[in-house]
Amino acid sequence: MGKFNDKVVVVTGSGRGIGRAIALAFAREGADVVVNVSRNVEQMNQVVKEIENLGARAIGVVADVSSISGAEKLIKGAIEHFGKVDILVNNAGIARPAMCYKMTEEEWNKVVSVNLTGTFNCIRAVAPHMIERKTGKIINVSSIAGRDGMIGNINYAASKAGVFGITKTAAKELARYGINVNCVAPGFIETQMTEWLKEPKFREKYLPRIPLGRLGKPEEVASLVLFLASDEANYITGQIIAIDGGMTMV
Ligand code: NAD
Repeated sequence: MGKFNDKVVVVTGSGRGIGRAIALAFAREGADVVVNVSRNVEQMNQVVKEIENLGARAIGVVADVSSISGAEKLIKGAIEHFGKVDILVNNAGIARPAMCYKMTEEEWNKVVSVNLTGTFNCIRAVAPHMIERKTGKIINVSSIAGRDGMIGNINYAASKAGVFGITKTAAKELARYGINVNCVAPGFIETQMTEWLKEPKFREKYLPRIPLGRLGKPEEVASLVLFLASDEANYITGQIIAIDGGMTMV
């Protein structure tokens, strides 16, 4: 028996990286998984196949969460196929680095629309369904950049700080319906988003700032997300939990 047998989970941006690790971890615990990408169908189908190979059920939904219609398509697709959504993980996120005095309007808007508005859109889309069922778990993937700030990433840090506000407000609004809303704030995790950290000059600069002395693994973030989605976390809501090896962002 898996810990999430009979649970349906939607993981946004789960074609690769942390989202993929979260999707696979839920599948290993018996959940039905809705894999989502904005464009890359090949990646989506690959993750669906990996989940099926684990003996769990999965579907893929192509939907851009930065629009309300995309988020609604995703949640509707999940409910139509599996009959319900128990857990929503808002993981989709992007970065478009530039110093604040050089950042374009497009770079600002794009990052805010995916990371911040996308998180709101998916909560907006799933909340009526969870309210009706009087149960649900929502986990938002933010970043310690939202807590500390991050040089060259004002759009990203602002959007991730906004996710803290979404988490705390949605937790207060939805608690009366038995819905928990929490947030994980990773530090540097080994994914394509942090490819640039493979360059020796960046490794030398950033590694000494991580007390645990290494980058985190997507699977480690997945473990925290699964804990927050489990019954063991039923009395936790509105919290932001860092998973960062003890580092402070610069
Ligand atoms: P990644 O780039 O490997 O994966 C991000 C995923 O989101 C991709 O599959 C992408 O296709 C998807 N996505 C992007 N825009 C989307 C949209 N509009 N609709 C649906 N899906 C969309 O990055 P990752 O490192 O796996 O990051 C996952 C999350 O973790 C992000 O929210 C990121 O900000 C956050 N995070 C990552 C790190 C890190 O060090 N890697 C640190 C802190 C927070």
